[in-house]
Amino acid sequence: MNILITNDDGIHAPGIIALKNHLSQIANVLVVAPDTERSAVGHAITLSDPLRVSEIEKDGEFFGFAVNGTPADCVKLGLRCLATEPVDLVASGINLGPNTATNIIYSGTVSAAAEAVIMGFPGLAISLTSFDIPEFEYAGLLARQLARKIIDNGLPEGTLLNVNVPPVKPEEIKGIVITRQGKGRFEEFFDKRVDPNNRTYYWLAGKRMNIDYEDDVDEVVIRQNKVSITPIRYDLTDVSMLNELSQWNIIP
Ligand code: MN
Repeated sequence: MNILITNDDGIHAPGIIALKNHLSQIANVLVVAPDTERSAVGHAITLSDPLRVSEIEKDGEFFGFAVNGTPADCVKLGLRCLATEPVDLVASGINLGPNTATNIIYSGTVSAAAEAVIMGFPGLAISLTSFDIPEFEYAGLLARQLARKIIDNGLPEGTLLNVNVPPVKPEEIKGIVITRQGKGRFEEFFDKRVDPNNRTYYWLAGKRMNIDYEDDVDEVVIRQNKVSITPIRYDLTDVSMLNELSQWNIIP
């Protein structure tokens, strides 16, 4: 079994070290990850600059390849150029911070798994919904079990699994729920500031909007201290509107 591992927090993030430790117990693993943090870059790819790869060592051993690109770049390059064996799964994470509801679209972590799926490989994204409680052990064990189940059972073409672990200690986790993506997003504002040279700059900030309440929605399940697992597809077509739109009679 061969697993390609990536993330968006960068190759030196503790989450990817934990994911490698866990998955290397059931598979040959290859780490290909951004050289610095690339959170919230979504599905961006690099076209205007060359991609450079460097070998990273940890504790005197080869750890993986660092790439000066995005998570999606890492998956493309990993699958096309760096992997020497056929890859059975692409695993992305373990991210620090939630990847739920509308915010999935901005996520580098989920986009890496989506890139795998687009290229025809199974994809798994896994995130901690806490920035403060780095409980990588539970998430790592979960990733290990899910990796095995994905490889045994397969995933439908075009589908990845997006996993979020609630922000509590493992013994306080109340279960695992298969969920839908919620509609929640951030209530955003720009903090307007002035730099030492008297020039104005803006910094995007915000807080989560709680607008999801159904018991099968990712954000709700996390609030109930349960693990959320959502099957995600990247066909963005609104099938329910196809008929109506065809009757608009669009003629320039
Ligand atoms: Mn991240």
